[in-house]
Amino acid sequence: MEKKDGVGKQFLEALEFQGIKRRDFLKFCGATAAFLGLSDLYIPKIARAIEKASKRQPVVWLNFASDSGCTESLIKATYPNAAEIVLDILSVDYNETIMAAAGKQAEEILEKSKKDGGYILIIEGGIPTKKGHGMISGKEMIDILKDFSGPAVAILAVGSCATFGGVPSAKPNPSEIVGVTEALKRVGVNKPVINLDLCPVNVEYLIGVVVNYLLLGKLPELDSFGRPKMFYGQCIHDNCERRAHFDAGRFVEQFGSNEEALGYCLYKMGCKGPMTYSACPKILYNDRISWCIKAGAPFIGCAEHGWPDKFAGFYERLPDVKIPGIAGVEATADKIGAIAGVATAAGIAVHAIATAASGRAKGEKKGGEE
Ligand code: SF4
Repeated sequence: MEKKDGVGKQFLEALEFQGIKRRDFLKFCGATAAFLGLSDLYIPKIARAIEKASKRQPVVWLNFASDSGCTESLIKATYPNAAEIVLDILSVDYNETIMAAAGKQAEEILEKSKKDGGYILIIEGGIPTKKGHGMISGKEMIDILKDFSGPAVAILAVGSCATFGGVPSAKPNPSEIVGVTEALKRVGVNKPVINLDLCPVNVEYLIGVVVNYLLLGKLPELDSFGRPKMFYGQCIHDNCERRAHFDAGRFVEQFGSNEEALGYCLYKMGCKGPMTYSACPKILYNDRISWCIKAGAPFIGCAEHGWPDKFAGFYERLPDVKIPGIAGVEATADKIGAIAGVATAAGIAVHAIATAASGRAKGEKKGGEE
């Protein structure tokens, strides 16, 4: 079995002890390979990388200014249980929200992790930079971040609060909260940070980055905001399941309307999909069941730098989004319907002519044959 799957017996027994069957674990590896854009040939390699990590890769997860929504997102993932696979197996030495230890015992674990080093440091929450506004055990959060960033092999900022400040940094931001990259800059630490924006973080992005690191031993390629291109390289609007409605000028104008029930485009209800980059429409949330637009809510832009202030109000419509129109004409959302109507008519005409021509050609050929 070990040779075939690349996964050790002991590891599989440990999984089964936690209620995860081998088949489901390999299914999880298959799904991970798929969203990393890897072929099925990588499934045993991913399994093997996770098995190896179970013996040596510690993770320290620190919570700063947030509502712990990202931890919630992680532990609420159902099957295979991402918390068990990525956290228990990856030896999470410290996560104060889910660990059993507390108080002095927890502090000792944290100190030991720092001394041993070599961990993946995951940060959840923004960093208060105003003195006295963010303290844990008498220490400023920004100083704790600085202390733990040094011995880390990789730093991941998960969720909008940790990446660029998120909700806690919204105006008037009395605690002067910033994201991890900015906080590290202010304390003179120059280390790359992988930013996994979104509120809350998509657990599959987190797993993808960790597995990518375990497999290749390096960080994924990042965009100018420090986000992995593999998850933030495409515009939500381009992959949205309602895009055909946008192109055809079919919009929801009011919640509770027939148009809403028909699943029309949410652009006029404030959707920020046209200015947001993330793989949400492909990877979804809640074990790939749904995401905000599928559930009927306009996208609020939480995958982007400057959220939420830059994207408020959430139900206010973006200034007219120009789309490359049919026949090179640029159109605004209001005009799309009209253009789409003309295009549809033109399309039908072209199709009819093509069909007639093809019929004629067949007829001619047939005739010729005759
Ligand atoms: Fe989807 Fe929003 Fe774009 Fe409409 S505006 S197609 S709902 S992303």
